[in-house]
Amino acid sequence: NHSEFILGIDVGTSGMRAVVVESKGFSEEKIVFSTTVTMPFPERTSNQSEQNPAIWLMTLEKLFSQLQSFNNVSKITKLVLDATSSTVLLCDQNGTPKTPALMYDDKRAQTQANLIKKAGPNESGAHGASSTLAKVLWLENHLQATQSQQDLNAYFICHQIDFLNYFLTGKTNITDENNALKLGYDSMRQGWPEWVKKLVSIPLPDVVAPGTELAKIQPGLTQQYGFNPNLMVYTGTTDSIAAFLASGANQVGDAVTSLGSTLAIKLLSDQPVFAPQYGIYSHRLKGQWLVGGASNAGGAVLLKYFALDTLIELLPQIHIDKPTHLHYYPLLEPGERFPISNAKLPPKLTPRPDSDIEFLQAIIEGLVEIEVLAYERLSELGTPKVKRIFTAGGGLKNAVWMTLRAQQLAAEIEPANNTDAAFGVTRLISK
Ligand code: ADP
Repeated sequence: NHSEFILGIDVGTSGMRAVVVESKGFSEEKIVFSTTVTMPFPERTSNQSEQNPAIWLMTLEKLFSQLQSFNNVSKITKLVLDATSSTVLLCDQNGTPKTPALMYDDKRAQTQANLIKKAGPNESGAHGASSTLAKVLWLENHLQATQSQQDLNAYFICHQIDFLNYFLTGKTNITDENNALKLGYDSMRQGWPEWVKKLVSIPLPDVVAPGTELAKIQPGLTQQYGFNPNLMVYTGTTDSIAAFLASGANQVGDAVTSLGSTLAIKLLSDQPVFAPQYGIYSHRLKGQWLVGGASNAGGAVLLKYFALDTLIELLPQIHIDKPTHLHYYPLLEPGERFPISNAKLPPKLTPRPDSDIEFLQAIIEGLVEIEVLAYERLSELGTPKVKRIFTAGGGLKNAVWMTLRAQQLAAEIEPANNTDAAFGVTRLISK
């Protein structure tokens, strides 16, 4: 069982990171090289966020230059990227950008989002002004003012990852199923729905599974950076799926909880769940389904009531074994989607005990109750029961939160093995 060298690249918002993994298969991996290049932030105004895609190419080439300090570049046989989902632009047949890239958080496509709402079913991943589909319709609309439909027909849709994969391989108009979800691709039926075809006037990309052979790297890049001429580039996935893969989760019943500003969970399931009222959708991944949902509650509520240093001081004073029984629902503001779907749900943070220590304890207890309910809700909706929960995010540093979770979640709890998406993405294609 010999090892292989895989190059994984995570394309984020503030930079790109490359990792070379020497792999004999899942959890028999060694990170033998890593490097990072920062990128200028997108240009943002109130509801707009864009970037010149030429920056991505420059950053990628810088990354390749830095890779030269790895001694075995020519031994790398596989290359795979993950990128920010729903960042998109339109290109012509030569891969020349015809529009700026609208970034993941761009929300200008409100009119287009309304069209999508009328045309598409609730469970589509393409809803909202920041969906890839809304952005593509906005870009198309923008170009139609100056270009003929004939010209537009020769353009193609480039997710951030497609643009870079085109640069690497010269292959156009192909993307992976995970990035395609927010463009309206129907993973269940494995095709573009009619309503999406009707809305978009330029051709929709071919869609393949993440981790599919795309093409060998371009000879020019081989010469310039000393790559192996047989280096195969594979289709990738989104940044959050790549981070999930890094955690160690790999079996049905494995999950990742992110204890971030908000609480997000992802569970590997043998069945998909699409429950739009809860904001739950599913990505196809290696023949299984990655079901995800996010609560509006999370670590940010703790920081609203306590400065971080106060929090750190009070945590050890909590009597974990004496529950407050206050059953808070700690939100920053009214409104929740998952695990309770109610746009007007008020935060519950009363009655407030005299002691700040007990108040803090009650908020943490409330956050744990929400996570318990979240996993229960997923299994009501058709996923298997959660068996292992890998944990990521700043909440890992909150010992009280972690202890209460371990007591109340009916699953094995452990920290994520790794949170590096550039490493995680290599697991799409390792043996
Ligand atoms: P984000 O989702 O914004 O990236 P983080 O994952 O960095 O947030 O942090 C999420 C939460 O973790 C914070 O809101 C806070 O409640 C908690 N947290 C962060 N650092 C610490 C710490 N040193 N001790 C205890 N809790 C912490």
